[in-house]
Amino acid sequence: MMEHTKGMIYIAGIGPGSKEGMTEAAREALENSDLIIGYTTYIELIREYFPDKMFETTPMRREEERCRMVLEEAEKGKNVCLVSSGDAGVYGMAGLVLQMSVEYPALAGRIQIIPGVTAALSGAALLGSPLTNDFCTISLSDLLTPKEEIERRLKGAALGDFAIVLYNPSSRRRRDYLKRACDILLSCGLPESRPCGIVRSIGREGQEAQIVRLGELAGLEVDMFTTVFIGNSHTRIIGDRLVTPRGYRLTENKG
Ligand code: SAH
Repeated sequence: MMEHTKGMIYIAGIGPGSKEGMTEAAREALENSDLIIGYTTYIELIREYFPDKMFETTPMRREEERCRMVLEEAEKGKNVCLVSSGDAGVYGMAGLVLQMSVEYPALAGRIQIIPGVTAALSGAALLGSPLTNDFCTISLSDLLTPKEEIERRLKGAALGDFAIVLYNPSSRRRRDYLKRACDILLSCGLPESRPCGIVRSIGREGQEAQIVRLGELAGLEVDMFTTVFIGNSHTRIIGDRLVTPRGYRLTENKG
């Protein structure tokens, strides 16, 4: 149930980008808001659907400033929506707002988190069904997480035979991060033939999905709008789809 008191903070994931990919609850939160705040890229995706709203865009790396603005505007009585792509709690702003909200006791009980479809799920659907068994997500961005921790998690994921979803596989500053991640996984014994997938700009103009093998993945150019999937030891390519079977024994077609 959506709360409608004044001075609400909605922290909403808007899904991968298309209007249809947004949940009804996220749409309602945006409708109920006086002010919508987010990265320029995300605001541009939704601005046209909410023409009568006030928008505030902030550049990357100004997260704290952005959260402070949300808390202060809500304290003044505005309904404010902070938008993230995908889900706001997956490498998003929900945690930071909650951490900072302890400084604003008047806002207690007025912060509502609205889930969205994260890139792991929208990307998996484009590729087929690569996440049908246990999986994990790892962000390759070392802006907020030390490199050693990222490497440890990659090794842990390989050891656990998880299907792996890599967020933030590259940026202008970190061109070789995907290659390094692939090298770590190969050094842990994953074969070069392991089926993988990459998806780009899900739900947005220029959407692409491609199935490749782990051995080829390292050589591919990816950007910050790309999400990478690495299958587990059971993952297969069926036709043009990436599929991780989950133990069903099919008698009819040996699928
Ligand atoms: N909160 C977002 C993730 C933010 S981190 C979510 O839940 O999806 C940013 C990373 O998410 C990008 O580098 C990319 O790996 C992934 N991502 C987000 N939106 C995407 C999209 N539309 N298409 C492909 N990847 C996307």
